[in-house]
Amino acid sequence: MASRKVINFAPGPAKLPEQVMKQAQDEFVSFGESGISVLEMSHRGSDFLDIINTAENNLRDLMNIPDNYKVLFLQGGGNGQFAAVPLNLMNFKPGCKADYIVTGSWSAKAAKEAEKYGQVNYVLPNMKDYTSIPDVSEWKLDPEASYVYYCDNETVHGVEFHFIPDTNEVPLVVDMSSNILSRPIDVTKFGLIYGGAQKNIGCAGVTVVIVREDLLGHAQPICPTIFDYRVQAGNSSLYNTPPTFSIYMMGLVFKWLVQQGGAHAMKDLSNEKSSIIYEVIDQSNGFYCVPVEPTARSRMNICFRIGSKDGNATLEKLFIEGAAKKGMQSLKGHRSVGGIRASVYNAITIEETQALATYMKEFKRQNHLN
Ligand SMILES: *Cc1c(COP(=O)(O)O)cnc(C)c1O
Repeated sequence: MASRKVINFAPGPAKLPEQVMKQAQDEFVSFGESGISVLEMSHRGSDFLDIINTAENNLRDLMNIPDNYKVLFLQGGGNGQFAAVPLNLMNFKPGCKADYIVTGSWSAKAAKEAEKYGQVNYVLPNMKDYTSIPDVSEWKLDPEASYVYYCDNETVHGVEFHFIPDTNEVPLVVDMSSNILSRPIDVTKFGLIYGGAQKNIGCAGVTVVIVREDLLGHAQPICPTIFDYRVQAGNSSLYNTPPTFSIYMMGLVFKWLVQQGGAHAMKDLSNEKSSIIYEVIDQSNGFYCVPVEPTARSRMNICFRIGSKDGNATLEKLFIEGAAKKGMQSLKGHRSVGGIRASVYNAITIEETQALATYMKEFKRQNHLN
């Protein structure tokens, strides 16, 4: 395999484990004894059925998913679920309404999409910028809501929940696109969990949906059949042609995760990696700053500024260019917020994180404002 001399801090699609890439390469032209590529095989043939079933079983083990939850592998990405969730669940209770906890641009987008299909109650006061999770005492939850929706890790703003909201029996729906399998979670606390694969568990094209059985069968009549969870569950995600290669890649990542020690190991790894970077920031005497409140800092997407909380455009540009010269790619913050964002998903190693920390210290020495 051509050597990979870069460190890819991209927010998604993101770095995949080298071992996974290597195995995919080895099997690319002919998978196992089949004589054909995964790209070329029937989604109903025994080889692919084995791939998809093994992926599901490994995911069930990794996340400790109880039997009364269905696992679906769907298309349409996170944005697809912004629509599929209200289309399937808003009618769970009379009134067709849902609570949305908006803590960043992804949950904001999800709430906006849901407004097409029912009544959206905004749980939090409107925030100018997304830098914190308001105290639970300020939340306005509606006990009649069909579900409560939130995003566990806001990829653009670097805001992550470090607790599971208590919704008092109202089903909890979570977007875990950018932190799924980065720590163990108690699946039984949720009605539905979903995540696009391209950040933490694979490549673009497949979205995992884990849904409690009693929530199936309430889809609105206008719900497209391919987005109807009951239909997809009844057909083991094979109602139509699924994204076969993306499911295969995700399955390889699950096997890799099992070998690495699963969600517990990923939690330790994520804590260690994010601490390495946040420590450099916190010990920089204000040269680097994190706009997000300490209690809501993301372990996955570390967003920071140089000079002040509003950033210094010249220094930030210099920082990103200097990093690129050292092979550290995709550190530019999202265009809507600016600044720097280091995405340190599961495939990013401690050594790669340390290389960034070293560069940050060096850059500070060379560009200190005083
Ligand atoms: C990337 C992302 C999305 C959008 O995913 P698409 O597959 O591009 O639609 C949604 N939610 C979160 C948290 C994300 O990080």
